[in-house]
Amino acid sequence: MVLYLIRGFVNGNIYVSFKPLRKAESMLVVGEKVAYVGEKGVVEAVVSRLGGELVDLGGRTVLPGFIDAHVHPDELGLYLSTLDLRGTRSIKELKERLRKYAEAARTTWVLGHGWDQELFEEGRWPTRYDLDEVVAEKPVLLSRICLHAGVLNTKAVELAGLFNLKLPGVLRDELGVPTGVVKEEAFDLVRQKVEETLTIEDYAEFIERALHYAASMGITTVGFVSCGLKQLKAVFKLWSEKRLPVRVRVYLSYRDELVEAVKQLGIRRGFGDGYLKILGFKILADGSLGARTAWLSEPYSDDPSTSGYPLLSEEELKRAVRKVDEAGLQLAIHGIGDKAIDMVLHAYMELNKTREKRHRLEHASVLRDDQVELMAELGVVAVVQPHFVISDWWVKNRLGEKRVHWVYRFKTLAEKGVELAFSTDSPVEPLNPWETVYAAVTRGKYENVPYYEDTREECLSTLDSLHYYTWGSAYALFEEDALGSLEEGKYADFVVVDRDPLVVSEEELKSIRVLETYVGGKKAWSL
Ligand code: ZN
Repeated sequence: MVLYLIRGFVNGNIYVSFKPLRKAESMLVVGEKVAYVGEKGVVEAVVSRLGGELVDLGGRTVLPGFIDAHVHPDELGLYLSTLDLRGTRSIKELKERLRKYAEAARTTWVLGHGWDQELFEEGRWPTRYDLDEVVAEKPVLLSRICLHAGVLNTKAVELAGLFNLKLPGVLRDELGVPTGVVKEEAFDLVRQKVEETLTIEDYAEFIERALHYAASMGITTVGFVSCGLKQLKAVFKLWSEKRLPVRVRVYLSYRDELVEAVKQLGIRRGFGDGYLKILGFKILADGSLGARTAWLSEPYSDDPSTSGYPLLSEEELKRAVRKVDEAGLQLAIHGIGDKAIDMVLHAYMELNKTREKRHRLEHASVLRDDQVELMAELGVVAVVQPHFVISDWWVKNRLGEKRVHWVYRFKTLAEKGVELAFSTDSPVEPLNPWETVYAAVTRGKYENVPYYEDTREECLSTLDSLHYYTWGSAYALFEEDALGSLEEGKYADFVVVDRDPLVVSEEELKSIRVLETYVGGKKAWSL
């Protein structure tokens, strides 16, 4: 006979689901699942009759656990363990931070992340000469906040063999000498060099650290996007050792051979168990607006010499899409510029029964009206990162008067019938769900984001935002029957928070704190 642990949670302000809005004062959890939500008397009677634990919530608010549909736990864990350069205001400050950190760094490469040249008072990108002044002996890689560019010191440029490599992503001065800045394919190449020095154990540690951090933020499931083979082995290790504190849903980085291998192993979408599932493959169609590498149908307004560029040809993309689709796996394709998104949607159009496959468009940043319509028609899921709205405060410069109305169209997407899933792309944006909800609701109103007025009609309500962060993301993962709300029969994944998000002012949303996180009825974290 199997013995299930019974836990009754009473006297709470429990949000069972957001759409429809359903609330209760008490909840009964049996084993990993919600057995009943409703009256306190019923819960108390079961616990006293069958034995178990009774938890008095003391009127506190309980919400379904957050599901962040697009995270990079390997990179997040790496950055939690290396130099944090977010918020750096100048190259001078970047150098000071690097100097301090490098003295203690244990890794072969000195790694840092999070700078943004838009914030630098020098008004320019950093170069290898800047870094050489601080660290010359060990290779250094400092990645830009967007993870589509980085800066190296000379030692790293040498080690990566960039002096003689003719790649467009290796930035060069007037004399053709690398400046130390690398973008896109060149940035990826350097990161591969760094990755080669990291072991499966290193990754297991990084990922575990990131997932515990996720639990502390009230996240109970993550979509692990761009998972490499070494990272997958690390996840398997954590899985088999029961070291996964939250649920992980994997989208592997696309590689031809890998699709073949996965197919031969008999792995289809949903392979795994409650804690770990493999869902599909992630493909990058273009870059980022920040680095002007997102592919637009017309040139950038603040640099007419470029429209960005695709990271693969339309033919290559179509072939990859077909291959993954035919293998019974889900696609998650990064598309930021409208031209890149055209290419993605054209590839999806050629498949059968696209709605049932719930193929995903990651970011969906710059969308024309016709593209919103087409997404709704095809049933493509928009996996969006509302905090981009605040971080990309300069976006009106990049896109100009007309196109600024095309960015981050959450409300329009929802109204046209496109399913939305919320995420952070962490470590690109803060993992804290309350910062995301705040950004979706306020869109930079309090940060004086220059295009707030232009796109204020895209503000979502708190209720809608919480729905997309729970049920919406569960839908993107094909798990709205098991996750995303606290209805009877679903996993008891929930958080206890210090304030009721549907009562506080919109400004207060970002300071709500998670007090406890439960995954499958078990406490995964508490303050
Ligand atoms: Zn990402």
